[in-house]
Amino acid sequence: MAIETLAVIGSGLMGRGIAQVAAVGGYRTLLHDVSGAALEKAVAEIGRDLDRAVARGKLADDAARAARGRLEPQPAFQAAAAQADFVVEAVPEDIRIKLETFRRLDAECRPEVVLATNTSALSITEIAAATRAPARVIGMHFFNPVPRMKLVEIVRALETGDAAVAATEEVARRMGKHTVLLQRESAGFITSRINAMIGNEAFHMLQEGLASARDIDMALKLGLNHPMGPFEMVDLVGLDTRLAVLEFLHKSLGEKYRPAPLLVQHVKAGRLGRKVGRGVYDYDGAE
Ligand code: NAD
Repeated sequence: MAIETLAVIGSGLMGRGIAQVAAVGGYRTLLHDVSGAALEKAVAEIGRDLDRAVARGKLADDAARAARGRLEPQPAFQAAAAQADFVVEAVPEDIRIKLETFRRLDAECRPEVVLATNTSALSITEIAAATRAPARVIGMHFFNPVPRMKLVEIVRALETGDAAVAATEEVARRMGKHTVLLQRESAGFITSRINAMIGNEAFHMLQEGLASARDIDMALKLGLNHPMGPFEMVDLVGLDTRLAVLEFLHKSLGEKYRPAPLLVQHVKAGRLGRKVGRGVYDYDGAE
């Protein structure tokens, strides 16, 4: 079956980015959200981002116009699901909302349609079990901001079929993304697992008094070519978010992911990162 129409369910931060790259990639893109206001905001944001891409010379004017023409906000869930040849779900990271969404997708979508979830940490196998055909459910993990980040992690759940993997690789490719395939689902996939480990090790080093935060950041940037140091990165991500990821990895994968005590202390102190004006570093003019 040729995939021509994509439905994106959830038009928040991730959903709108996914809809944008789908439309630019040539798909008729139905963007659905339970909130009319969120849907309106998403369409406006996509328009602005396409304008910015044209202004920066990253996208031709007519390509941006064509993408806009292929994007259709669809407030009716049933209409979006019934017309889709492929679905990407980007509703909030709450298992109850995910299970209900997949139950409804299972009921409304044609049986051959692949149902991909952008979950960061929930069990794709559990989400798949909400459907009658778990072979068509797969993980499709995008990165923020979606239009600029080049990777998609594709994740096989216990019963994901080969046809779903092939279709997802093709969709990601048309969206302009590179893909990596996780042969089985595992907490943190590839990226979050390694990133959390590096970030945690950096806190251990700081705690040991091995070097200053600035020097640890500098070492990774200039010695290992990381675009950001681990402390700059955690200040951006949020120390509370990083702690939650590490606690989840610790619970799922074992002792080596136990959060460093200094990270836990920073969170207790309210040093949550840039969003509150102070994390590992202090920031002026914080919100
Ligand atoms: P978000 O809160 O920005 O957006 C979620 C959207 O879903 C909102 O617009 C909300 O109105 C809508 N929604 C809520 N219930 C719905 C329903 N039943 N049906 C349809 N729409 C519904 O969240 P987000 O940051 O875009 O995250 C979405 C998913 O992507 C989560 O699973 C998250 O873990 C994952 N993810 C997030 C990031 C990130 O950096 N934010 C990165 C990778 C993956």
